[in-house]
Amino acid sequence: MSSSGRVVLVTGGTGLVGKAIEEVVKESNNNDRFIFLSSKDVDLRDPKAVREYFEKQQPTHVIHLAAMVGGLYHNMRNNLEFLRNNIQINDNVLQTSYDLKVKKVISCLSTCIFPDKTSYPIDETMVHNGPPHPSNFGYSYAKRLIDIQNRAYQEKGCETVFTSVIPCNVFGPWDNYNLEDSHVIPGLIHKLYLANKAGKEGIIFGTGKPLRQFIYSLDLARLILWVLDEYSDVEPVILSVDEQDEVQIKDVAELIAKSLSFQQPLKYDTTKADGQYKKTASNAKLRQLHPNFQFTPLETALDKSVKWFIENYDVARK
Ligand code: NDP
Repeated sequence: MSSSGRVVLVTGGTGLVGKAIEEVVKESNNNDRFIFLSSKDVDLRDPKAVREYFEKQQPTHVIHLAAMVGGLYHNMRNNLEFLRNNIQINDNVLQTSYDLKVKKVISCLSTCIFPDKTSYPIDETMVHNGPPHPSNFGYSYAKRLIDIQNRAYQEKGCETVFTSVIPCNVFGPWDNYNLEDSHVIPGLIHKLYLANKAGKEGIIFGTGKPLRQFIYSLDLARLILWVLDEYSDVEPVILSVDEQDEVQIKDVAELIAKSLSFQQPLKYDTTKADGQYKKTASNAKLRQLHPNFQFTPLETALDKSVKWFIENYDVARK
């Protein structure tokens, strides 16, 4: 037991966001005992194994990040798997936390689960206001159910605080750089890195025009730790950069190319899908509750991520 008495279990502790939390915790004078869980410790789809693990570790707080996560093309091919795996993982973690009277559970939704047809900016009240984009409906509905389940626990009048956060697109060290299954930034970093080495032009899927908000994983980690201490409402809170920091994919590609000192031209393969054109989210609630938070500038964060990928090429997930 830590001197604070808190035992914080981070599911998905080996992923992009989990690793960032680990790094931020290491840098701070945090007195909590953190446990970073991987699928090798326990398959969270297995209810018995989850129960046994929780009984052994006795977490007082849970940051629930574990999920089947992937980029546009991975989602489009595997909606059934995204739906079922994530429903199973979430139900096991939430129900076990409820049964064992964990004090607080923070789960992770995503801005990409919001309704496809909506007004902008999107805010926390709009999660269930219409069907998600068809490309990732499996992932989206599984995530939306976390919010529903949180509210159902609250209605029971239970002791556990169930809340959730809604990050925008995350990137940073320890990302998944797989060329087929990754999100846009790690995919672009890996692809342009290889093209640069081969002296080939950089091919970017889609038009490069869609707009996105990107948060650096270390910034998100700091905000999730703030939620752990300060935010206990069942209503979700969006953790995103400001609306004016939304950028086109092509701007991101150019910054990555700059960071790699990319020599060849960038070309756009417009036969490939763009996904949702934009999903601008409002961080007004976050700004109101935590007005002084400073986000790392995109160019700096991208440069750090590119450098991390190059330095850790052999161990990076790809
Ligand atoms: P990653 O894909 O980097 O990591 C996923 C984590 O989940 C890994 O630690 C993995 O363990 C674990 N995991 C997956 N399946 C299981 C399982 N069956 N049992 C136990 N553990 C499992 O995810 P991110 O860090 O990117 O995402 C963290 C959270 O943030 C997720 O809930 C995601 O939906 C959400 N989010 C992510 C965004 C992004 O852009 N990345 C955007 C918005 C929200 P192992 O390493 O052992 O495989």
